[in-house]
Amino acid sequence: MPNHTPLFKRLGLVNHPRFVAKPPAQPGTTIITSHNPATGQTLAGVRADTRASYARTLDTAERAFRSWRSVPAPVRGQLIRALGDAFRAHKADLGMLVSLEVGKIIAEGQGEIQEIVDIADFAVGLSRQLPGHVFPSERAGHRIIEQWLPLGPIGVISAFNFPAAVWAWNATLAAVCGNPIIWKPSLLAPLTALACNAIATRVAADHGHPDIFQLLLGTDEEIAKPLVADKRLPLISATGSTRMGRAVGQAVAARLGRSLLELGGNNAVILAPDADLKLAIPSIVFGAVGTAGQRCTTTRRLIVHEKLANKVCTSLVNAYAQVMTKIGDPTRPGTLVGPLINAHAVASFEHAVAAARAQGGTILAGGARVKRPSLKGGHYVQPTIIRAPATNKLPIAQEETFAPILYIFTYKTTQQAIDIQNSVPVGLSSAMFTESYRTAEAFLNNDGSGSDCGIANINCGTSGAEIGGAFGGEKETGGGRESGSDSWKIYMRRQTSTLNFSGSIQLAQGITFQ
Ligand code: NAD
Repeated sequence: MPNHTPLFKRLGLVNHPRFVAKPPAQPGTTIITSHNPATGQTLAGVRADTRASYARTLDTAERAFRSWRSVPAPVRGQLIRALGDAFRAHKADLGMLVSLEVGKIIAEGQGEIQEIVDIADFAVGLSRQLPGHVFPSERAGHRIIEQWLPLGPIGVISAFNFPAAVWAWNATLAAVCGNPIIWKPSLLAPLTALACNAIATRVAADHGHPDIFQLLLGTDEEIAKPLVADKRLPLISATGSTRMGRAVGQAVAARLGRSLLELGGNNAVILAPDADLKLAIPSIVFGAVGTAGQRCTTTRRLIVHEKLANKVCTSLVNAYAQVMTKIGDPTRPGTLVGPLINAHAVASFEHAVAAARAQGGTILAGGARVKRPSLKGGHYVQPTIIRAPATNKLPIAQEETFAPILYIFTYKTTQQAIDIQNSVPVGLSSAMFTESYRTAEAFLNNDGSGSDCGIANINCGTSGAEIGGAFGGEKETGGGRESGSDSWKIYMRRQTSTLNFSGSIQLAQGITFQ
């Protein structure tokens, strides 16, 4: 068994008071055990929070807010600049930890940490330009201004598949906006969370604000649900399944709090008859099998014009045959597909394949677990292609199965393709490959009749968003936006002020009140 202690040491885990090098075999709920999905072996453990440490964490965040909000935004930006530098310095090690803990291949593990660096850069720029507006007043000698103010401690709940970047999207923007952060990560990736939060806390302490990044680790019952219900947190940002979002959204709404929901996706690529297949095929393969199909933006459905269907199926089957030889240990260079996160995910994969078969789907590639002796103990499945029957009816494809399954549908008209694309309950990412301006505009039509997703790309796959644009989706994906553009606004409260320098009292709408 490989010795990960040097890696854990370099990341400051070994001496961390919450780190448990050898968790007991039956840990209960006081220690969260981290498993390597590529081998099934235990990596280490992290001490869980208790009701008492929960209470301390919330008190600390309230105190931290009172001092942090008074730090000028450009000075807050300097702390985030140092945070970005610290993650740059630890990129290789943290990327490896992500690979070990959630099974991403090395390039993707490191890409995840690069996203932290990128969003930190973005946040530093933002800290110098958090804008406001001035509006003309109808009253002489008056001005109306709109300013944005820090909101309060922010609760961040994250999913296993982006165990570091999603926290950073929230934490860096929320911090330059003047808010402390309390992070409740997925219990499937506690070591990544502990390492990232420890780095952030060290940087924050060096800048005199040791308490702005806090971590709460514990079960949903003990920690996450109380956090969601806690009135001291004006915003809960939650990333995960639609099931989770429904529960969190309702609990936050019940206390009239604000929620930012980033939930599941069931993303499609449309191939128009004039699609450039040299661009499309690699984009579909990366989108469908990258991260072993465990991205919210994974390509799960391919909607291909009937003229191209057979040719595209053949190209994809050939490409998948190559990919099958690159399934393996995600920490090895050359691997393209790592494991699923756990045995439960493998069971969901098998359930979806069986359902697709029963519903008339044809398995063109994959469809089974990988049973190579060298991969024993790991949760590996084959990237799978399933062609829908001629009726295009395949109910299982309406669901997000977090595994590398690509369902193929055919269509005759552009409108039919868009209708199939929009027929699922979620609306995160979508893409079309075409050389025709008119077809592309039908997909992006600004009357809203095209793609109904938060992301709609032309000649570019569904996954791999950059941090510059706002990220998020519509319908049951939750409607939240994170990362670039004006996503920062959710972490602030808006205040409208009318300033009267006329020396007289005038009422709006011309009302006189003598
Ligand atoms: P999950 O819903 O099982 O868990 C996500 C997080 O929510 C975890 O931290 C979990 O502990 C917490 N949680 C679950 N139920 C809760 C409750 N009732 N109250 C409070 N917290 C609760 O999701 P997962 O399996 O970790 O991640 C995969 C899912 O996340 C997929 O559906 C994927 O599409 C989605 N996802 C979405 C985005 C996005 O930006 N839209 C990004 C990454 C992942």
